[in-house]
Amino acid sequence: MVDIMKVMRRPGVWEYFAECEACDGTGSVETDMPVIDFMNGGYLITGKGDCDKCSGDGYRDLTDDEYEAAVFNGEIPACVH
Ligand SMILES: [Zn+2]
Repeated sequence: MVDIMKVMRRPGVWEYFAECEACDGTGSVETDMPVIDFMNGGYLITGKGDCDKCSGDGYRDLTDDEYEAAVFNGEIPACVH
């Protein structure tokens, strides 16, 4: 079961997406970031980067099955697609 997100990308138009599992809908993930250090040869730090799965949006398209399940559960009005 996915978390449904309601997103208004165009004024007055609600669209429904699945919350991204990889980043919990935040759009960013902790990632190892290389730091170039010419004196010591470079190292890795942990930083925030864009989520790979949703390219930083925090949501992704629903699959047909997920959409149908969400309509069935009343999370999405059946007339919207
Ligand atoms: Zn994500």
